[in-house]
Amino acid sequence: MIVDYHMHLRNERGEIAHDAASIDPFVETARSVGVDEIGFTEHVYYFRQTRPLWTVPYHVERCVYDIEDYVAAVVAAKERGLPVKLGLEVDYVPGREKETQALLEPYPWDYLLGSIHWLDDLSTDSEPRLIDELGVEAGWRRYFEALGGAARSRLFDSLSHPDVIKIFDVRPDRPAVEEMHKAFATAVAESGIALEVSTAGLHKPVGELYPDPHLLGAAHARGVPVTLASDAHHPELVGRDFDRARELLISASYDTITVFEQRRARQEPLG
Ligand SMILES: [Zn+2]
Ligand SMILES: [Zn+2]
Repeated sequence: MIVDYHMHLRNERGEIAHDAASIDPFVETARSVGVDEIGFTEHVYYFRQTRPLWTVPYHVERCVYDIEDYVAAVVAAKERGLPVKLGLEVDYVPGREKETQALLEPYPWDYLLGSIHWLDDLSTDSEPRLIDELGVEAGWRRYFEALGGAARSRLFDSLSHPDVIKIFDVRPDRPAVEEMHKAFATAVAESGIALEVSTAGLHKPVGELYPDPHLLGAAHARGVPVTLASDAHHPELVGRDFDRARELLISASYDTITVFEQRRARQEPLG
């Protein structure tokens, strides 16, 4: 089985469109590229219901949509028998775990992805860069410690683009990186959640899959399951580069992927 469990519901012009009609082109692409099931994971910060969580202008400016429309569109597609799941990409805000949980509790998620795009007012993957403010090694360390906290929070079912901090292709020395990988993989294993393998990094300055093969190997050695992701922001990008993701998974000895249903995980043979 092949699933794509990370995408953002957009119309064919690439605009945010949380309606039933916008779902079909994603399903059509999935069918044409051999993806059996897809999961929508809109950014949590687009929804006005989550406004109390945000302090950074990037988030505050964006939370104007109604989460009810998004949930209804995906639930209606499930009811039509389409192979879709209801997810959300949730920015982890350290210290705000209870509020995050309470805001998301009313909706019938199949799974929640945990992401870190910002730490305080510094960005892990855009400007102003965390690695410029703290220095490269300290920035990476801060990122992985926070993402380990996301794992331990038990708010999430899988962690998105786990080493997105490498996006600019600026890194500490390899021994330091590998030490961070191991500590983080241990935190994920202890939490019992999954780690995402994402092809999105292939199209960023780093030009690599997330996560690094060493991190994925450390995760496999600790029994961490995986989810698969394109992070498509356009219906044509569903399942993009999944041949590369499959190669990476096989090289790390993975032979199953995680499928979610109402936040219960099961393993299916990797197709
Ligand atoms: Zn993301
Ligand atoms: Zn995303």
